[in-house]
Amino acid sequence: MTDQAPIVIVGTGLSGYSLVREFRKLDKDTPIVMVTADDGVSYSKPMLSTGFTKAKDAQGLAQADTDAMAEQLGVEVRTYTTVTGIDADNHELVLGDQRLGYRKLVLAWGADVIRLNLAGDAVDRVHSINDLMDYRAFRQALEGGKRVAIMGAGLIGCEFANDLRNGGYDVDVIAPDAAVMPSLLPEPAASAVQHELTELGVRFHLGTVVDRVDHEAGGVRLMLANGEALQADLVISAVGLRPRTELAKAAGIDTGRGIKVNRALETSAADVYALGDCAEVDGQVLLYVLPLMACARALAKTLAGERTDVRYGTMPIMIKTPCCPTAVCPPPVGADGSWQVERDDSNVKALFTSPTGEVLGFAITGRFALEKQTLAREIPPIHQ
Ligand code: FAD
Repeated sequence: MTDQAPIVIVGTGLSGYSLVREFRKLDKDTPIVMVTADDGVSYSKPMLSTGFTKAKDAQGLAQADTDAMAEQLGVEVRTYTTVTGIDADNHELVLGDQRLGYRKLVLAWGADVIRLNLAGDAVDRVHSINDLMDYRAFRQALEGGKRVAIMGAGLIGCEFANDLRNGGYDVDVIAPDAAVMPSLLPEPAASAVQHELTELGVRFHLGTVVDRVDHEAGGVRLMLANGEALQADLVISAVGLRPRTELAKAAGIDTGRGIKVNRALETSAADVYALGDCAEVDGQVLLYVLPLMACARALAKTLAGERTDVRYGTMPIMIKTPCCPTAVCPPPVGADGSWQVERDDSNVKALFTSPTGEVLGFAITGRFALEKQTLAREIPPIHQ
């Protein structure tokens, strides 16, 4: 390692670019090289599930091209460059047959989509949408089509269902659970969202899975495990994400569900840090924007010389189902308590309350969603 080597950041998603923005507020001069497997275009990933509602295609969702980002942030951005290994002992990143030395290395390389092993001859019509390039390919493939089947009824599946209905598409959602967003919402809030999406025209097929996808004249046919057959032009797979850990693990860096870091975002290897969708921060894997922004602010200070722990605060999640506005602040995993529910039609206010009456989490839909800020102030922050 040399002191002349740059800080190297892998990934130009929200984590990578937010970190550099924060760092440049503190240090205008230290050389930074950003390496990304994609085109490096800056965009806000949460907006991918609002394209039809906002009448924006991939081009419309792009915020700045790579050259503009490089100039604005005073960095070099290496696009379409895939990291293939980390040589932590020598402070070098492996890029195929090339090497890139670093003084500090930041892993902001996100999460991989989980791909199902589907039978059938039309898996080429199954799209996962986890970045702007995926979204561009999906919109191109959808041209002329009217029917979309979505595998998965989590946050992303439900948001795409609402957005595609707003765009005038026929939408079927297939998922194995009995309710939508089972890991995020208590049942009354989930059923409110499902009810409003159904009113909007989304057809749900819950408690079953897609077994195979085959071409048929004019589209594809999906065979479900419950014996149902569905027709569609295209399929979205939204069955989950898995933090990218393999290369870190191969380099001897501690991994769990994500790349393990402490609250200073330090991995087990000297001068190697991680944040965003790839990171397990102090035992928590949170694939959302607010946590990564908090990490970017803390890590920027550390990289600028003031070692800083991240503080998470309270972080409500807005679910972008405009047919049923929904906000959720999940209680801590394993917290002692129960849900207290107030409900009128699709307006649900569910408060997760401890045995001593303290509100530890909430899920609110419909008109109650307006209470998000007030309720968020009542919830104890994740880090006191
Ligand atoms: P990514 O954006 O995935 O960036 C990873 C980067 O690493 C990319 O540049 C990639 O090319 C690069 N990379 C990966 N592997 C390599 C390699 N080997 N070599 C070089 N480069 C590599 N969160 C919210 O809080 N609210 C929301 O409403 C919300 N809505 C969402 C809607 C959708 C449709 C999706 C998909 C996600 C949503 N999220 C939401 C989650 C949020 O967008 C993510 O948590 C966040 O964008 C992750 O950013 P990241 O920079 O960590 O990862």
